[in-house]
Amino acid sequence: TDIQELLLSRIRDVADYPEPGVMFKDITPLLADPAAFTALTDALAETVERTGATKVVGLEARGFILGAPVAVRAGVGFIPVRKAGKLPGATLRQAYDLEYGSAEIEVHAEDLTEGDRVLVVDDVLATGGTAEASLELIRRAGAQVAGVTVLMELAFLNGRARLEAALAGAPLEAL
Ligand code: 5GP
Repeated sequence: TDIQELLLSRIRDVADYPEPGVMFKDITPLLADPAAFTALTDALAETVERTGATKVVGLEARGFILGAPVAVRAGVGFIPVRKAGKLPGATLRQAYDLEYGSAEIEVHAEDLTEGDRVLVVDDVLATGGTAEASLELIRRAGAQVAGVTVLMELAFLNGRARLEAALAGAPLEAL
């Protein structure tokens, strides 16, 4: 579609970042273009409405930049999922495996409760490890998963397959 072409034209490929052999998708040109950023926000806000989500979870850090305006546009709350050690209150914490080693993310326990339907927003789905861990947090909090929505899916990394069990039938959408 025209919107997909606009968005794609504002994503910059950066070779060998953050390490040799990786082609990084840089979304900062998109953020700097108000027409593209607005089109993206509108499209993701439609997903909130279509999935019946009552909250948006954004994954640190670019999921904050995209998820916050989406939550405002859709009229639902925004919940940050952060790297471990950044949130001041009582948290739920989830570890997940990286290519080398592991990482941990956290959410304020009181921000997600039974009865919530939660849409996870991030910029790029790569291996799916971060999104998978966020879905575990949502379930452990007793909330329902409305889905995962990202700007871009790097399909060759098979994140979709990694997320399948945790999604349990909820949609994974990539613009
Ligand atoms: P995953 O856990 O799926 O392997 O990695 C996804 C996380 O890493 C996301 O939070 C995303 O922001 C970041 N990420 C991985 N690769 C890229 C990339 O090429 N471009 C951008 N913008 N983010 C990436």
